[in-house]
Amino acid sequence: MAGNLRLQGKVAVITGGSSGIGEASARLFAAHGASVVIADIQDSAGRSVAASISPPGRCTYIHCDVRDDQQVAAAVSCAVDTYGRIDVMFSNAGIVGTMASVLELELDDLDAVLAINLRGTAAAIKHAGRAMVAAGTGGSIICTASVAAVQAGYGPAAYCVTKHAVHGLMKAAAGELGEKGVRVNCVSPYGVATPLMCGAVGLSSHEVEALMSELAVLKGPILRTEDIAAAALFLASDESAFVSGHNLVVDGATTVVGTHLSTALRNFVG
Ligand code: NAD
Repeated sequence: MAGNLRLQGKVAVITGGSSGIGEASARLFAAHGASVVIADIQDSAGRSVAASISPPGRCTYIHCDVRDDQQVAAAVSCAVDTYGRIDVMFSNAGIVGTMASVLELELDDLDAVLAINLRGTAAAIKHAGRAMVAAGTGGSIICTASVAAVQAGYGPAAYCVTKHAVHGLMKAAAGELGEKGVRVNCVSPYGVATPLMCGAVGLSSHEVEALMSELAVLKGPILRTEDIAAAALFLASDESAFVSGHNLVVDGATTVVGTHLSTALRNFVG
């Protein structure tokens, strides 16, 4: 990898970096030369991920509940104080929340999902954006949306709402921050076997991978956290220097096709 370090000298904050997509991204970003601050509420897991990344000191963990504006501000300050700057904010923390249908939805449950997925992302964009604009060095802000930001049917209504809102927020922020040299994009994963996904559907990792592969248009590869981290790496790096306001959907063409009429016909006809 030496000689092809795509984030050499850059500093990244990753919310939700203790697990799943965020953890894989922390490892990949650090392997590409970035210094990384993991901001999460799973302290033990986050510290252990940070400690396992080499060389020592390349990754720092900070407790940060993204529902708290000041804790998000502190995570950004941690990056600047520890590593001297912030170049990348990967706003990735999220939950699925209640699986209730819209008919059963308690509005407090809707607020709970909004507080993390939408308000947390707004706080991350605000505080990272402020630091990037103040430094005058530009930067890249990446928000984890979802296939649920593109189509309904990939999760409960409350989750779908928040991810559509994250997509809208990304576009608004990209429009505002472009003149300051700050890029803002989304990465939108299809189903990946993480604690979030397995917990939501009550299936094992193996079962989730089998189910999502069955439903995906693209056959062959199994979508893993490392694939989403690779997409985030592209958006974080200078290779995407003129990419802003984009939603990078990593779904093997599944939302492009929607209803698989050709597959259904094949099965129908036998
Ligand atoms: P995960 O559960 O492995 O990771 C989510 C992380 O967010 C955890 O470490 C958790 O502690 C953290 N988190 C939760 N609430 C937080 C809070 N209030 N403050 C700070 N951190 C908090 O799940 P994942 O699948 O890696 O999820 C990462 C992102 O990917 C989420 O935004 C999720 O909506 C999105 N996503 C996941 C999938 C999938 O199939 N796994 C698909 C589309 C989008």
